[in-house]
Amino acid sequence: MSTLLTEDMARLSAVVPCFNEEESLEELHRRLSAACAANAGGDYEIVLVDDGSKDLTWPKMQALAERDSHIVAVKLSRNHGHQLALSAGLKVCRGSRILIIDADLQDPPELLDEMMTKMDAGAHVVYGRRKERRGETRFKRLTANVFYRILDRLVEIDVPLDTGDFRLMSRKALDMLLRMPEQHRFIRGMVSWIGLEQVAQDYVREERFAGETKYPLPKMFALAFDAITGFSTKPLKIASYLGFLFSILALFGVLYTFYSLIFLNTVAGWASVMTVVLVLGGIQLLVLGIMGEYLGRMFMEAKRRPIFLIEDIVRRGAPAKTDDQIASEDEANMNASSAR
Ligand code: UDP
Ligand code: MG
Repeated sequence: MSTLLTEDMARLSAVVPCFNEEESLEELHRRLSAACAANAGGDYEIVLVDDGSKDLTWPKMQALAERDSHIVAVKLSRNHGHQLALSAGLKVCRGSRILIIDADLQDPPELLDEMMTKMDAGAHVVYGRRKERRGETRFKRLTANVFYRILDRLVEIDVPLDTGDFRLMSRKALDMLLRMPEQHRFIRGMVSWIGLEQVAQDYVREERFAGETKYPLPKMFALAFDAITGFSTKPLKIASYLGFLFSILALFGVLYTFYSLIFLNTVAGWASVMTVVLVLGGIQLLVLGIMGEYLGRMFMEAKRRPIFLIEDIVRRGAPAKTDDQIASEDEANMNASSAR
């Protein structure tokens, strides 16, 4: 339903979001093609999504697409961020099984064999679980670790610990994922929310093949906020608990003030007043901030903008498809489903 070009499904699609990955593309192409060919014969495609790269990623992708008919090169209109670039690739791909993998080869494509076997046994999602992470800074490992544990506490659904987006999905699972329209996407959480049979595939996360991480701290924070606010309203509850707790403390404070005014005859202490003002002010700002995070997300969702914009698709043998065509297909799909 939500796939493009469904008339010719492939057995396997690999979807790769790429942001400034010019150095990794060749090696990625080599290793990923080998893994796909070993598992799907010639019946596979590799969807490379250029997420508004500033380097030679797009020209290199186009060259690969010219050379190899298995490659579908998709160019987004600007940098949309990893999760949206991935969403664009997932929308475009046509495989009956879909492998999601990063461009930097931290997740070994060769693991596809085992993942396919697990899917043959009935799983709809086989997600990579990092047993070990190599070549990443202690800080990155620590923040990732803390993040997954906090997330586990806060969200109502069960997002498996230490997993990224590296996974193999069935078409059924992907179509369910594609029905979720939200702008702020935390895909591994959304996949987990779907249900169906999901199993882990343990692996060792390698070092980046080339270049630097494209996930600096601000992007990691943004993803963490999307993950938490996308799946949990607990922060709102924490906000009201805090408000409640401090109202009670404030009540005692007021009683004490009256007591000291009447019985102790003291000059009002500057320090205590400042403490109360600062503490209450801080808590109020925190609570307002939490509310604001949710409100802001509701505002963005309410606009119902498309979540990504495709500028160009290059694919040997098939006409390029741009966003206009995709939008009109989407509309046709929506009309069809509302008429049903
Ligand atoms: N990426 C992207 N858009 C972005 C940032 C990252 O498409 O704005 C891609 C990047 O090219 C890579 C994947 O997302 O293929 C994961 O990024 P990265 O490897 O830098 O993250 P890390 O492994 O360090 O968490
Ligand atoms: Mg990486």
